Amino acid sequence: MGILDFLPKGVITGDNVLKLFKYAQEKQFAIPAINVTSSSTIVAVLEAARDSKSPIILQISQGGAANFAGKGISNDGQKASIAGSIAAAHFIRSLAPVYEVPVVLHTDHCAKKLLPWLDGMLDADEAYFKVHGEPLFSSHMIDLSEEPKDHNISTTKKYLQRAAPMKQWLEMEIGITGGEEDGVDNSGVDNTKLYTQPEDVWDVQRELSSVSPYFSIAAAFGNVHGVYAPGGVHLHPELLGKHQAFVREKLKTDHQKPIFLVFHGGSGSSKEEFHTAISHGVVKVNLDTDLQYAYLVGIRNYILSKKEYLLSEVGNPEGPNKPNKKYFDPRVWVREGEVTMAQRVKIALQDFNTINQL
Ligand SMILES: [Zn+2]
Repeated sequence: MGILDFLPKGVITGDNVLKLFKYAQEKQFAIPAINVTSSSTIVAVLEAARDSKSPIILQISQGGAANFAGKGISNDGQKASIAGSIAAAHFIRSLAPVYEVPVVLHTDHCAKKLLPWLDGMLDADEAYFKVHGEPLFSSHMIDLSEEPKDHNISTTKKYLQRAAPMKQWLEMEIGITGGEEDGVDNSGVDNTKLYTQPEDVWDVQRELSSVSPYFSIAAAFGNVHGVYAPGGVHLHPELLGKHQAFVREKLKTDHQKPIFLVFHGGSGSSKEEFHTAISHGVVKVNLDTDLQYAYLVGIRNYILSKKEYLLSEVGNPEGPNKPNKKYFDPRVWVREGEVTMAQRVKIALQDFNTINQL
């Protein structure tokens, strides 16, 4: 028995997302959520998932969405980010079935000042829902972790109320992910906020579960975006077990993992840290930095090794009239980045026990 016995290929939404995350908790695996910023990075990730017989989460950040739309477009009023994320969603929806894997189509951190981006995407979700009976995106993230707790929870609840009729998933954050990513700099944040308390997780669980079951919590356990030298990050994924125990006690349930948890800032973390987190109910691990680097590696190696063939359209070490077209064609060198990025995604799929789950 595998995932394709109960899930379709292509983008999944609603109860199918819930089934996937429940199954992941049961089988003790997590699904990598890879940030994609272009058609090229999207196909690289889909290829890795197909080759590894794994479900995958493709996620688009606000900046990544603007990049998808093209950096030449103004992002006033989040125009480029809204258009770019919608374009990426349609692109992913068209191609995901061809790669024959279930795909969760997700958007990344949305802080308070970016809420117009989320509003724009939800408009698109509702329009899509009217025609197709499901939202355009499987899920979104709202991140009001920098706001006071009550404001974070009450605003997140309002958004979940809007998403719930579409059975759309919402990921929220409580506690803060340190470091810097996509223009959000939390590198100076107070240390205690980097470790979420069980009471806070319970407050979220209680409030949101009164609206819908389609949500997950990114609770901070010392997570940091980016990759730092060893010793710079003190992750405590065992804290996640305390959250599960606390909520279990409050709910008086025997369900070992009553909450769906998300691991942010996965780049640079150890296999042991991933396994501990997964054992405590983490179903999604975010990876961005490591994949950005992996994409560069193939292109960098190509450019450096073929340098003499790339300095002019005609003329290389084999002769002054030798054409270089087959070396500078973007399909050749962009592909090198896709290959090394896909290799790195496959390592994540192995590390998170996602491989061969279809
Ligand atoms: Zn994050």
